Amino acid sequence: MTGLVIVGHGTRSTAGVDQFAALVERVRRRGDIGDVEGGFIELSRPPLTDAVGALVARGHRALVALPLVLTGAGHGKGDIPAAMAREQERHPGLTYRYGRPLGPHPLLHTALEERIDAALAGADRAGTWVALIGRGSTDPDANAEVAKVARLLWEGRGYAGVEPGFISLAQPSVPAVLERLRRLGARRIVVAPYFLFAGVLPDRIVAQSAEFAAAHSDLDVRVAEVIGDCDALADLVRERYAEALGGDIRMNCDTCAYRVLMPGFADKVGRPQRPHDHPDDPVGHHHHHGHDHHHHDHHGHEHGAVAVVGGGPGPDDLITVRGRALLDAADVVVVDRLAPQGLLAGLRPDVLVVDAAKVPRGPSMAQEAINAALVSHAKAGRQVVRLKGGDPYVFGRGHEEVQACEAAGVPVTVVPGVSSAIAAPALAGVPVTHRGVAHDLTVVSGHLPPGHPDSLVDWAALARARGTVVLLMAVDTIAKIAAALIEHGRAPETPVLAVQDAGLPDQLSVPARLDEIGAVAAREGVGPPAVFVLGPVVALTTTGPTG
Ligand code: SAH
Repeated sequence: MTGLVIVGHGTRSTAGVDQFAALVERVRRRGDIGDVEGGFIELSRPPLTDAVGALVARGHRALVALPLVLTGAGHGKGDIPAAMAREQERHPGLTYRYGRPLGPHPLLHTALEERIDAALAGADRAGTWVALIGRGSTDPDANAEVAKVARLLWEGRGYAGVEPGFISLAQPSVPAVLERLRRLGARRIVVAPYFLFAGVLPDRIVAQSAEFAAAHSDLDVRVAEVIGDCDALADLVRERYAEALGGDIRMNCDTCAYRVLMPGFADKVGRPQRPHDHPDDPVGHHHHHGHDHHHHDHHGHEHGAVAVVGGGPGPDDLITVRGRALLDAADVVVVDRLAPQGLLAGLRPDVLVVDAAKVPRGPSMAQEAINAALVSHAKAGRQVVRLKGGDPYVFGRGHEEVQACEAAGVPVTVVPGVSSAIAAPALAGVPVTHRGVAHDLTVVSGHLPPGHPDSLVDWAALARARGTVVLLMAVDTIAKIAAALIEHGRAPETPVLAVQDAGLPDQLSVPARLDEIGAVAAREGVGPPAVFVLGPVVALTTTGPTG
């Protein structure tokens, strides 16, 4: 039977350590989990490494690791997985499934209710307000969990009200929530620490409550015990163990600061927590020192995702910061020929690089085969970056890939890129707009020449426009396009610049009049990738270094 290691954070309180040990012993005595150890990641004994070592010594190679935390915050999401990663280095071949935080759970709410009742000692609930005090975190999602528990504790239990507060890092503080309740008209308040065991912070809750009570002699302020070692907690440990074994971890990540923009937390979005162990995070970094967690990681479930990333026109350093971060966190990179190839050299050696041009496929199946590869890698639990040239949505078929992922139920995000349509002219010294010179910019695919039955371009209308036209994929069609534009009224002397390999060491600029560009480009050997920019802005071309 899979062994269980119960992982605590550690505390300077000997009472807290004793309660933790008593709980481990209670779970062990029940005998329904084969082998149970408990350890701390810091401050207290036994250290986690002894607990894991004991289980390994008794022959275990696969464990359930259960973080003994009430809410998913830094300890559960980062510190404990990091400590387990160190254990895996110490014991090659060791695997583990990671359980989810204990709360919220009805067993805990009932335990809290019992602690509050004990403090009330018969006083009536209807005249009692409860201040539920959580640890407090820089992770707003963890604080929100405490608010949720406060609400759940109030539902149907007959207290006058339950308000959340925090002993550190978050507001309202203990005095602030007590003052709030006083102003609401509370006469009797039970302060209920939302804490598993005794410790420095629960002691601080007691002290601050006493201080407030001393300053408000008209109030009846009582402090409930922490949840502590009890059968309900042992039941919950057992349930979280079974859940982890079954691969049924339904952690709430919908409002995590690392993936959702919340006021004041902009710096966290898209930033993988390092070390990262957040089950549903599309940018999560799940690399644990070479052990293969990607198919089924230690959460026991799959959580791959796809990011369709614009890589910019070619140089390594014209990708966005966000695109670069996603690339650093990727397990698989599916790359186009026109995407910045230099970025591939910086990937970790264990990253799988798939050349999109070589994805196995039947005739005219290229895009379907790429879509299928994205979906299947993500479904296998991998973080996939689809690295494209320029911007994914500018003639990049990026949206087809997004649609394919959505249709397959795979989480997908888009990261815009610097499009060659604008960057290639810029890198060649041409501004695509300029005050008083060009007030419109049209980006056109030259893939299908004028007159082609499938063409969606109104070439006559394009010829009437007076501003800037940028043509992509037009190396083979430029002569026909120039002729059509002139035929419909654009001036034959309109200046054009062909820009080949923009941003790359071989960047080449070839200028010509509109009526001569076809012949000149052919003579100069202009080849893909190249853009043609035409219009009065071309006359403004600067020749100095542009990048
Ligand atoms: N999504 C891309 C465009 C893809 S279509 C983007 O936003 O840039 C491919 C076309 O892009 C090429 O035919 C060429 O016209 C243009 N292109 C891409 N990279 C280029 C580069 N470095 N220099 C010049 N043109 C480039």
